Amino acid sequence: MTSHPKISIAIPVYNEQEVLPELIRRVTATLDALPGGPHQLVFVNDGSQDQSLEILKEAAAKDERIVVVSFSRNFGQQPAYAAALEYVDGDAVVLMDGDLQDPPEQIQTLLEKYNDGYEVVYAVRVNRKERLIKRACYNVFYRMIQKLSATPLPRDSGDFSIMSCRVAKLLAVDADRHRYLRGIRSWVGFKQTGVKIEREERSAGATKYTFKKLLKLATDGIFSFSLIPLRLATLIGSLSVLVAILLAIFSVYAKFTPAEQLPEFMNEIPPGFTAITVAISFFAGVQLMFLGVVGEYVGRVFEEVKGRPSFIVDQVFSKQSKWTPNTPTNTDSSTSTTGGGKVDERMS
Ligand code: UDP
Ligand code: MG
Repeated sequence: MTSHPKISIAIPVYNEQEVLPELIRRVTATLDALPGGPHQLVFVNDGSQDQSLEILKEAAAKDERIVVVSFSRNFGQQPAYAAALEYVDGDAVVLMDGDLQDPPEQIQTLLEKYNDGYEVVYAVRVNRKERLIKRACYNVFYRMIQKLSATPLPRDSGDFSIMSCRVAKLLAVDADRHRYLRGIRSWVGFKQTGVKIEREERSAGATKYTFKKLLKLATDGIFSFSLIPLRLATLIGSLSVLVAILLAIFSVYAKFTPAEQLPEFMNEIPPGFTAITVAISFFAGVQLMFLGVVGEYVGRVFEEVKGRPSFIVDQVFSKQSKWTPNTPTNTDSSTSTTGGGKVDERMS
């Protein structure tokens, strides 16, 4: 490892036109201040509908260090990171959100620790400046996934991190269609550590993570890293069978015992009614619930088997012809490439 590694910064962008000018200014200033270089900046435009792509194209036309990868539609933040990883060529790669919640100046902090010989240094959030309810949800989620996951996943660490080139390339080839990068980053192993970094408020615009997208990220995290939900089915199923056996014994006993010998309460209710109602609704509920859990995994197997790419690149913009081989003199290329797997030819 050289003492001044070339840094590549990967940033996903989805409708961030309000933030971009400030983001580009601060990130390039950070890069300017870093020793070594020339460093690299990879933006992935995740199908923005606003002026984001125009702003990015303009920046790429001015600054050699900038590569802009533009998707054919919105694929989500995790695929956007994954795509960026295919274009980075630094010795160390930084993952950073594009809304300035991850302060670019802190890359320096991550880098210092990285230079101490760690392969991965991730930011641990202190002071999450989010609404109470969102903070509470995050708390529950991170605690839950720590308990459930077979891989130890550090708590309160998001995507903001620096990693060696080889770890970045490992994350890039990962064929997991339901990516949960911070999970895989931890799964690959090597020497890792966290540093505490204060997470800023989003500098402008609204969050691009709708509740639905956040829920998807959370379920991807849980179902891609744990089989415990499936094992719970076995556990609760076994308990239910036990209860059912007890009920059966009780019913048979009640059936063959003369009415006078039974406790009084049993003569008052229609025989078996309560037990049957409780048992049927309970077991039906348990079965449906775990049918859903099994369905989650089967669905994931289905998605993996289809082998569709997790993103499709429409265009790449860069002053360096290395990234835009079809148009060596221009900042424009329109080759479509796919990432994360082969395209199914029958796919419509
Ligand atoms: N993002 C993206 N595609 C999406 C949603 C978000 O590329 O479909 C980007 C977004 O532009 C930002 C980062 O992912 O750079 C984090 O999103 P956001 O700040 O909206 O999420 P939050 O911090 O609110 O969880
Ligand atoms: Mg954000």
